[in-house]
Amino acid sequence: MIAAHTIPVTKVDASKLPGVKLENVPFGKYSTDYMLEADYVDGEWKNVEIKPYQPLLIGPANMALHYGQAIFEGIKAYKSDSGEVFIFRPYDNFRRFNLSAERLCMPAVPEEIFIDGMRQLIDLEKGWIPAMENHSLYIRPFMFSTDESLGVKASETYKFMIILSPTGPYYGKPMKIYVEEKYTRAAPGGVGFSKNAGNYAGSLYPAKVAKDKGYDQVLWTDAFEHKWLQEVGTMNVFFVIGDTAVTPSLEEGTILAGVTRDSVITILKEIGLNVAERPISIDELIKEYDAGNVKDVFGTGTAATISPIKELRYKDKVMTFDTDKWTITPEVKKRLDAIRSGQAEDRYNWLLTV
Ligand code: PMP
Repeated sequence: MIAAHTIPVTKVDASKLPGVKLENVPFGKYSTDYMLEADYVDGEWKNVEIKPYQPLLIGPANMALHYGQAIFEGIKAYKSDSGEVFIFRPYDNFRRFNLSAERLCMPAVPEEIFIDGMRQLIDLEKGWIPAMENHSLYIRPFMFSTDESLGVKASETYKFMIILSPTGPYYGKPMKIYVEEKYTRAAPGGVGFSKNAGNYAGSLYPAKVAKDKGYDQVLWTDAFEHKWLQEVGTMNVFFVIGDTAVTPSLEEGTILAGVTRDSVITILKEIGLNVAERPISIDELIKEYDAGNVKDVFGTGTAATISPIKELRYKDKVMTFDTDKWTITPEVKKRLDAIRSGQAEDRYNWLLTV
């Protein structure tokens, strides 16, 4: 067992921080000074260490490169005006990470490494968290196989790492979305609920095709009928229909159970909306749209919190939304951002203080 803040640290010679402008820093542009690393060997986690951010040495037959045992998470930490540092709902990401691990036939990472290691790393890197509105530190835990072999099998060794990147405001500008009816992100029994690298690789080409047609992203539909709505790009999706917010249910295992999705469900209820987690088809959405019942439509995720959707296209049907007139989406975003950044009371116990 590794107690908090006892992971050995190899110090950097000089921090890169003085050369970095944190204001409005683009997502993912900079890595901080340190990274956390741990190895799974002979059935146990060892070599847990924090060291200067540096390249990895892996063999050409590294199995992750060939057979894709690679999973990750995305989390954010914030600094309040008084300088306190919080991580937003890291235990939810920790649980999701280990669900992904199980599905990809990888070992679970213990809390002492995932959570306590993250805390120690962030404590060391506090200076990288911009203490500015809508700025945060993006946390990227990930794990990949490290066996070298060309035979297809589950690796016996793995590496778990955490890297960090300061991030400025993400202006979730209203999106134009293409309802996908050819490509598929996930099918029942597959790996859609897991945050594995391959899901993202498979999504790039359909996203490019949609971009070439003038759309920002695709709205994924089910694998059989291309009718049941799943997720929008790498975000969960919500449709406010009348006084009910509908979001696709998770039971089938084809949707990533977003931490923002769960938080938004809580906040929507707080502001008095009904929330229905249930299957929703494109036919139902069009029917409600034509009847004038569809209000806000948006995606949710750690990067942007909430991204409004201003246009949805399905075959020849174009549905447009006047996002400037919405009241629900801005209110949910405001409340969620206030909790996340420590400005509002942490009434759902979502913050872990570093
Ligand atoms: N769906 C997919 C496919 C994603 O990659 C993400 C981003 N992690 C989400 C939904 C939103 O999840 P979260 O709110 O936990 O960031």
